[in-house]
Amino acid sequence: MKIKIEEENKQILNAYRGILRSMKTKRTQADTKLIRKAFDVAVDARESIYGVEASGNNEMGVADADVIVSGGRPLGSEDNFASLYELAHLLGGTVGASRAAVDEGYQPVARQVGLTGTVVAPRLYIACGIDGAIQHLAGMRGSQVIVAINTNPDAPIFKIATYGCVMDLFELVPALTAQLQASPQPA
Ligand SMILES: Cc1cc2nc3c(=O)[nH]c(=O)nc-3n(C[C@H](O)[C@H](O)[C@H](O)COP(=O)(O)OP(=O)(O)OC[C@H]3O[C@@H](n4cnc5c(N)ncnc54)[C@H](O)[C@@H]3O)c2cc1C
Repeated sequence: MKIKIEEENKQILNAYRGILRSMKTKRTQADTKLIRKAFDVAVDARESIYGVEASGNNEMGVADADVIVSGGRPLGSEDNFASLYELAHLLGGTVGASRAAVDEGYQPVARQVGLTGTVVAPRLYIACGIDGAIQHLAGMRGSQVIVAINTNPDAPIFKIATYGCVMDLFELVPALTAQLQASPQPA
């Protein structure tokens, strides 16, 4: 994965070099600064597209996962995301997050799903305490099965959910986890 990123970086850099070469006018210091900035932005975007963790740990990226358990602002802390990781691992998947949860610092930006995060299309997407803002939906509406857990029956996420649970995530997530732990592992 790291090699892939480096290759992508090289491709982006080469593209910018190409732009520079094709510029008829003499390159100014401001041009160089602008291109450097554009390069940095593109690299950041690539990191988010490929779901690479800034911390470099071995957790699967959201782009690679068949199952994503995603958390929103109501999770309230990084520690509370541990219950989502537990559920996700039992299902063979990983954790995603809304931008609100990322902005609050509960999860790294590589886990953000949506328009300005990663666009995902897993077999199963479980949205826990995610309202369903259009920018979030843009990143996950291609999921095969969407389960939404939300206390508000009018939350927009229910409009695209395959299964909707009007429930407190802090009750349902541990209950699901306990049930999975009690059931035999698939062969
Ligand atoms: C240019 C732009 C780009 C953006 N890009 C993205 C993006 O890529 N990804 C993204 O996600 N957002 C993006 N956003 C932000 C987006 O508009 C929303 O603000 C954000 O998705 C809201 O996150 P949230 O659903 O976690 O939080 P909230 O809007 O706070 O919603 C929380 C939801 O949880 C429910 N809830 C509360 N407590 C519980 C509980 N105990 N159990 C269950 N449910 C509960 C509430 O009813 C509510 O529906 C972008 C916005 C802009 C302007």
